[in-house]
Amino acid sequence: MSFIKDVLLHLFFIIFPILLYQSLWLDKFHATNVKQNRYLIGLLAIFSILLCMTFPIVIDQGLSVDLRAIPIIVGTLYGGMSIGISSASVMFAYEFFQFGSQSMLPTAIAFSLYIWAPLLMTSKWFRLGKRKKIQVALGLGVLQQLASFSAIAIHGKVNTQSFILGQENIDFLLYSGIAHTLSLLLVIMLCEHVREMTFIRGQLAASEKLNMVSELAASVAHEVRNPLTVVRGFIQLLNDPTDQTKQNYSKLVISELDRAERMITEYLNLAKPQTEVREVLEVGDLLYEVSSIISSYAVIRNVSIHTDINQDLYVFGDPPKLKQVFMNVVKNAIESHEDVGDVWIHAFQKRQYVIVQIKDTGSGMSKEQLNRLGQPFYTTKDKGTGIGLMVTYRIIQSLRGRLRLTSEPGQGTTVTIFLPTAKKF
Ligand code: ADP
Ligand code: MG
Repeated sequence: MSFIKDVLLHLFFIIFPILLYQSLWLDKFHATNVKQNRYLIGLLAIFSILLCMTFPIVIDQGLSVDLRAIPIIVGTLYGGMSIGISSASVMFAYEFFQFGSQSMLPTAIAFSLYIWAPLLMTSKWFRLGKRKKIQVALGLGVLQQLASFSAIAIHGKVNTQSFILGQENIDFLLYSGIAHTLSLLLVIMLCEHVREMTFIRGQLAASEKLNMVSELAASVAHEVRNPLTVVRGFIQLLNDPTDQTKQNYSKLVISELDRAERMITEYLNLAKPQTEVREVLEVGDLLYEVSSIISSYAVIRNVSIHTDINQDLYVFGDPPKLKQVFMNVVKNAIESHEDVGDVWIHAFQKRQYVIVQIKDTGSGMSKEQLNRLGQPFYTTKDKGTGIGLMVTYRIIQSLRGRLRLTSEPGQGTTVTIFLPTAKKF
């Protein structure tokens, strides 16, 4: 029982600084200062190490264990090599201070047998997915325990007086090994959770800003529309039927004004807060509209859009929302190209489904990327938000549809949207 109590106490020594780090640092400063952030991680790791070493879990006389390896490993993974080295130096110094030189040998053996693994991982750590991180953490925990068992075994041979390794002690060491590995796993999961939360908070702030800007822009667009209407009216009045050149010019002016007006209307439709309406709508019209709105964006990025859209494809839904779905998928398809490329929009009916297929010749996605797709805020773009697909999935789900994505890295991606058909009344 006292063993469990001791392990829980050590876990507290390690988890408490992490929670302190989250509430005192991440919440206030958004961890923008990388250097200070690193000092802080180092200090907190050292704090945990000293506490663990001061109150070790005594198994038998001369044989005690503690969870000091966990802050060293976690500090190295999240803070880098400098944290690993400095926290290890403090650990050795304190060990020397506590027990003198005789216990340095097993500590040094155990340490050198496991520390290479987190040091090798530091550069890759942040690129790993969550599941991979947990697997690595499990591996590191087992390795660290094997290292400390070997150190104890070697040390027992070298110096037989210090302790006797009876069956009972071996059992204890086994328990401690399991406790150690599970604790490391728990601590890494907690760190990941803290990081994710901080990231999500940052993204929320950014999307709030985006929201505000788009609302302001919508009000400006609305204001611009009125003078456009006035100008259009007066241009018509100024029109001189006898002068052919002037007539051509005014026609040009009016058609350009109409284009500006159309764009503003489209933009306002997209930006205005939407109330949910459900009506029967024609997917083809919607797709043509989307492709014409987005065509200039495609031209800028050297991507050509090809359409093959059948007629009379009726579904039941909310037009602006469905438009948003198509916009995002087509926009993603355009953005997946580094250079020139093609996007095909194909829409047809198959049994009771209207199927919209959007295919690109872009970068494609790996299996791992595909798995992470529906996750909020997952983006690989510098200016991406990672919200588009999340919203897309949600809207399609609310229409009782399905979205299927197939992708081949380097070849391209095909997004297939299935929507239940509605009969035209
Ligand atoms: P954003 O476009 O803001 O990045 P999305 O939710 O729309 O957010 O997309 C999330 C991520 O999915 C993108 O960053 C990209 O990596 C990937 N993605 C989506 N569509 C495609 C596609 N057609 N080709 C390649 N990658 C894609
Ligand atoms: Mg997008």
